[in-house]
Amino acid sequence: MSLIKKYGIYINGEWKENTENSFYSINPYNQEKWAKITQASESDVRESIKVANTAFEQWKNVSGRKRAELIYNFAKLLEENIERLAILETTDNGKILRETRNQMKFAARNYLFFAGYADKINGNTIPLDNNSLFNYTKRIPLGVVALITSWNSPISILTNKLAPALASGNTVIIKPSEYASVTTLELVKLIEEAGFPKGVVNVITGDSKVGKWLTESKGINKVSFTGGTETGKIIAKNTSNTLTKNTLELGGKSPNIVFEDANINAAVTGAVAGIFGAAGQTCIAGSRLFIQKTIYDEFLQKLVAKASKIKLGNPLKKDTEMGPIANKAQYKKIKDSIINAVQEGLNMALGYKDFENQLESLEETGYFIPPTIFTNVENKSNIAQNEIFGPVLSVTPFNNVSDVIEMANNTDFGLAAGIWTNDLQRAHNLADEIDAGTIWINTYRSTAAQAPFGGFKNSGYGKERGKEALLEYTKIKNIMVNLSKEVRDPFTIEN
Ligand code: NDP
Repeated sequence: MSLIKKYGIYINGEWKENTENSFYSINPYNQEKWAKITQASESDVRESIKVANTAFEQWKNVSGRKRAELIYNFAKLLEENIERLAILETTDNGKILRETRNQMKFAARNYLFFAGYADKINGNTIPLDNNSLFNYTKRIPLGVVALITSWNSPISILTNKLAPALASGNTVIIKPSEYASVTTLELVKLIEEAGFPKGVVNVITGDSKVGKWLTESKGINKVSFTGGTETGKIIAKNTSNTLTKNTLELGGKSPNIVFEDANINAAVTGAVAGIFGAAGQTCIAGSRLFIQKTIYDEFLQKLVAKASKIKLGNPLKKDTEMGPIANKAQYKKIKDSIINAVQEGLNMALGYKDFENQLESLEETGYFIPPTIFTNVENKSNIAQNEIFGPVLSVTPFNNVSDVIEMANNTDFGLAAGIWTNDLQRAHNLADEIDAGTIWINTYRSTAAQAPFGGFKNSGYGKERGKEALLEYTKIKNIMVNLSKEVRDPFTIEN
């Protein structure tokens, strides 16, 4: 009997498996095929849109209180399944178990947060110049929302979208990445168990064609996308014909800035967490480290010492600190960026120069890339400007505040930034000057259900998490009521 798990697509509460047209999910640690996933067809995509629109007609009338109860039930089921889902996600994308476990916990917390909002979504009454006109707004759901996610943190990214979308009364079609679909498919089993009506949550799996069909179709009222900047631009173009609203959470090349007065040990830990956490496969990676010249050598020494001790290995093992890269394509992309940087003459302080030979000496078989640090990097160089999405850090010295602001902002991206200093004024002033959606001061990668997240510039637009996320999944209707019995002049606009 085959031990490979098999998954169909999930439309209108029914599982539909297609064994003829399917693909495998590969464990990046041992390269074993471990799950077989159905490739959705164009007609499956059309069917999911039809079903989600039909379900919306009922779901939009379900009270906020009932929606809150369902999301709460689901959050509790998720809490009960943290360990199981974390192991599945680690098997799917190689992220270490302690991180996937934390992400599941944080996901459950986020569903609880938005459950609390579901019965508190309201419009306003608006006083006008004319007292005989009564004006109010209603905040209503958008309709059908397509949620497209990437492979690096499938459940965490999905939660940022699904929780506010359901809380505000939308129906959804989820399209996970072909490289890591399993936990999304397991999650909808819990959605069903929680009692959500059929057709409110649908999942279609498959390659990029599925995302393309979905985003080009009529009958979708919003696309919420997390992925690469180039794909985000394609989606913005593809949805322009239907004028479909978008939230785009895209790439980053975030600066992490250390001043001479910082707590050095904390900043070293923050720099390591920023780029080597999740093997650098996070949009918020602090991939450009700026160190003030006066502490440059001392800081680098400590950083290299700490990074060189990071334990690579089986992501399911307790003491592993960095797992493999999530898939072969990404592994190749990172490796090529490193090889190019070495060929361009950049100084490597840590990492492999002779990739193939050193890899052979590793006892592990997965797609491993060790912590890699390039020093004295010019901010305009390829390695400092292009997103690598791997454990590759470029380090650049700076003289003073204006110097570093200029370099930090000199990027196409604007997702996040870290500032390490004990000078309160400088920290807040710099937070204003840096053009990024999230600024961390004396911390990095901290996150919260209440705190809105989302980038500027080529890092996208729209917000996830916090109350702001709810606003992204609702629209405003304005209602004007004439309270006067007087018959008006038909040729004059009332105001
Ligand atoms: P991709 O852009 O390749 O893919 C993201 C999702 O879009 C996948 O489900 C993919 O399907 C799908 N897709 C691909 N092409 C299309 C298309 N033409 N139309 C619609 N959907 C499409 O990104 P990755 O999965 O490689 O993720 C890495 C990127 O995600 C990085 O740039 C990273 O910075 C960014 N990211 C951003 C975050 C943020 O919050 N800002 C968080 C995490 C990651 P398939 O995989 O099946 O091809």
